[in-house]
Amino acid sequence: MPTLKTVDYLITGQGLAGTALAWTLIRRGYRVQILDRCEPVTSSKIAAGLITPITGMRLVVSWRLEEFFSFATDFYRSIEQETKSQFYEIKPMLRLFASPAEVQQYAQRSRTHFPELVTIPEPLADESLFELSLGGFEMNGGQLDVPAYLEASRHFFESRSSFRQAEIDPLEDLEFQANSVRLSRWNVRADKIIFCEGIHSQHNPWFKAIPFEGAKGEILTLKIPGLHERRVVHRGIWLAHWKEDLFRAGSTYDRAQLDCEPTPAGRKEICDRLSDFLKLPVEVIEHRAAVRPVIRGRLPIMGLHPQQPQIGFFNGFASKGSLQTPWMANHFADILEGKTTPDKAMDLAHKL
Ligand SMILES: Cc1cc2nc3c(=O)[nH]c(=O)nc-3n(C[C@H](O)[C@H](O)[C@H](O)COP(=O)(O)OP(=O)(O)OC[C@H]3O[C@@H](n4cnc5c(N)ncnc54)[C@H](O)[C@@H]3O)c2cc1C
Repeated sequence: MPTLKTVDYLITGQGLAGTALAWTLIRRGYRVQILDRCEPVTSSKIAAGLITPITGMRLVVSWRLEEFFSFATDFYRSIEQETKSQFYEIKPMLRLFASPAEVQQYAQRSRTHFPELVTIPEPLADESLFELSLGGFEMNGGQLDVPAYLEASRHFFESRSSFRQAEIDPLEDLEFQANSVRLSRWNVRADKIIFCEGIHSQHNPWFKAIPFEGAKGEILTLKIPGLHERRVVHRGIWLAHWKEDLFRAGSTYDRAQLDCEPTPAGRKEICDRLSDFLKLPVEVIEHRAAVRPVIRGRLPIMGLHPQQPQIGFFNGFASKGSLQTPWMANHFADILEGKTTPDKAMDLAHKL
């Protein structure tokens, strides 16, 4: 009989949320065990990893951009160093206006809301390749190669025997002891188990009251010979270079059909919207779909379960996992150490 492994934190789920939390807790000296069921398609595994400073038709600057972006940049670069791999880039992004209303929004907001975030290069882009009649602007964003980051992290966790493929049944597997929780099936005991299950937590009985909404997203990999643009181009959807003549484009946003099935309608929507601004033919190489973990209110939620404090929750990163998980993991670790208290709007206790 192998000896029982004892750790401070068990983390269920190695997506963007669980990975950032695991790094943060390990770096603070805690013993951490990560359990993930290693599905081939998850929200994190298909995500484009874009960090886009200004988004949407209303040209909104992403919430707490400056603080989260510089924190995320330092965080990913330090992990690149530690794992001797490369997966993070600061990326120029081009935003093309899609309507006169957007041009007007820009005129109203650019000087007051984001004067130092944007520039207007001359020319904006190659007119023979892109529809540029309404103009646009350039901004500096970031791109995380999410699969490469998750894989480099998993190898690091495995090298410390801190990772295991396992599917946790949140009712059957958890045996509560005075100040800990034991998972006999996996031969491990922890002071706390933190669920970072993404959208799957909507079926976790401990978090029944969390108002999950979810948003399915579809994404295409495209072959576009002759396109040498290396900036990410946004115009309703985004187009981002991947490697050689391959690009990614996406993504759709569907609140009704919450499954991981790529659909002809999703593919058509992306291709149609792309053809509104790209003048080159594209060939679809791959088409994938997953569900973003959106919680009503659209803020991340974290904390320990008020009735069962051996259980924690770190979730709700919606479309902002790459930008927000590093800062939020640090914040959650501070909460766990009693150094700070959670904002009411992000506090698990106020949702249950
Ligand atoms: C098409 C698309 C494009 C996107 N593009 C971007 C983008 O450009 N930029 C950006 O920042 N975000 C993007 N996102 C959103 C981003 O992917 C999410 O914010 C992020 O994936 C959330 O990560 P997570 O760790 O909470 O969830 P997940 O990625 O779902 O990870 C949860 C993990 O837990 C595992 N798991 C769940 N339950 C269990 C269990 N009981 N036992 C064991 N393992 C379990 C799962 O297998 C999975 O590995 C995109 C999402 C989609 C769908």
